[in-house]
Amino acid sequence: MTKFSDLGLHPKVLSAVSDAGYETPTPIQAGAIPPALQGRDVLGIAQTGTGKTASFTLPMITMLARGRARARMPRSLVLAPTRELAAQVAENFDIYAKNTKLTKALLIGGVSFKEQDALIDKGVDVLIATPGRLLDHFERGKLLLTGVQIMVVDEADRMLDMGFIPDIEKIFQLTPFTRQTLFFSATMAPEIERITNTFLSNPEKIEVARAATTSENIKQGVVLFKSSRKDRQAKEKRMVLRSLIDSEGEACTNAIIFCNRKTEVDIVAKSLNKHGYNAAAIHGDLDQAHRMRTLDGFRDGSIRFLCASDVAARGLDIPNVSHVFNYDVPTHSEDYVHRIGRTGRAGRKGTAMMICVPADEKYLAQIEDLVKQEIPRIETPELPEAPSRSRRKPRDEDGEKPANKGRKPREKSEEAAEKPAEEKRENRSRSRRGGRGNGRSQGEPVVGLGDHVPAFLLRSFKAPKPEPKVEAESEPAPAEGAAETEENGSN
Ligand code: AMP
Repeated sequence: MTKFSDLGLHPKVLSAVSDAGYETPTPIQAGAIPPALQGRDVLGIAQTGTGKTASFTLPMITMLARGRARARMPRSLVLAPTRELAAQVAENFDIYAKNTKLTKALLIGGVSFKEQDALIDKGVDVLIATPGRLLDHFERGKLLLTGVQIMVVDEADRMLDMGFIPDIEKIFQLTPFTRQTLFFSATMAPEIERITNTFLSNPEKIEVARAATTSENIKQGVVLFKSSRKDRQAKEKRMVLRSLIDSEGEACTNAIIFCNRKTEVDIVAKSLNKHGYNAAAIHGDLDQAHRMRTLDGFRDGSIRFLCASDVAARGLDIPNVSHVFNYDVPTHSEDYVHRIGRTGRAGRKGTAMMICVPADEKYLAQIEDLVKQEIPRIETPELPEAPSRSRRKPRDEDGEKPANKGRKPREKSEEAAEKPAEEKRENRSRSRRGGRGNGRSQGEPVVGLGDHVPAFLLRSFKAPKPEPKVEAESEPAPAEGAAETEENGSN
């Protein structure tokens, strides 16, 4: 078996690695470090959880140990798709470079330019950045990329999803042609292949197996859940989530709960808190300081449940996550692999549970195709009985009125959003023609009455009194057409 000491790393790096408690290199480290140290380009097909951050950071530190940084001209550059990932690479760098005098700067959105400018002015060995922020600095004339000897692109497939590929190409062109490139992606989409063919020179290709197909330490399960009534689906799904959490008892020390939409992330976090579970939300609409605080809270255990969207949680390395709950089935099967990879890290055991409603069964099938296994079915937990509708507007266990009166149920609006525009227009005009009083303009014929419209039908009615506000567990239906499944502005 390969040992770290066989890889050619600097003794100061080796001692930091040993202090970090690593005994043997992971396959991506054993594969990528030797060619990187020889100065070759590397194309690593690996995802987070495989140890890939160290596979590029350790050789970088070794190679940069000789030489000095010059003002405004970083010697190496690491590009990451999100602020959190960039911050995580920076943390890893601090651990592995602790015995050296190498300096770094982190250029990410949400942090003031002034501080970052001051560091760059002094000269840094390693610049870790999100693409947008890096280009902002460059365009302000504060930064020169002509001194970059090593450039790392991390999570290239995520960059592609987030629309950063043009930025990456631009950055490649601003760095010297002679640079060494270490490029990492979990998948090789055709666009990624094109970029690597253009910007990498005869790379050493290292591919490591997917976590989802190899990670036997993650116990997986899925509940096929059908709600008692369609308009109660969201609420009952939250009950299922709580039952799943409860069924795990103390084994569930903490968990990341993934939702497909940012609004859902907020709703689920709010609901859990309301029911006494200690939860917080993280997604791209929250400001950077807030996201960092939440992550720190989750890391140090003061927050037990982290409700997250894919982008916000992508690649986050939190070593001790006991459970992942997929509150929604991800619509891109790749995301399932990434999500469940948040647990069972570094050889630990983990549990990943998912709730699948009938409309999502097609996505479940795609996931099972991808991971080449059937995800074991978990019996639907028994839910408290739905409140009777005959009594006087009783509040249900979530504090919401049973029929969710006065607001459009979410499922309805989503269904409507899926209808072709043509059909929607037709429905609107139909309801204008035949609907109840309010929507109809005076003089419009009433179907079925010929030209004669009794006067009482044309009278305008007093607007109904607004329903009392529903607290906490609100379910705002997303504005029609506002597809906000995932943020892409977290750069
Ligand atoms: P990454 O894929 O870079 O996000 O790393 C996943 C986790 O594995 C991190 O918590 C690392 O600290 C840890 N790790 C990286 N390399 C090793 C290793 N050789 N042995 C044990 N743990 C490691």
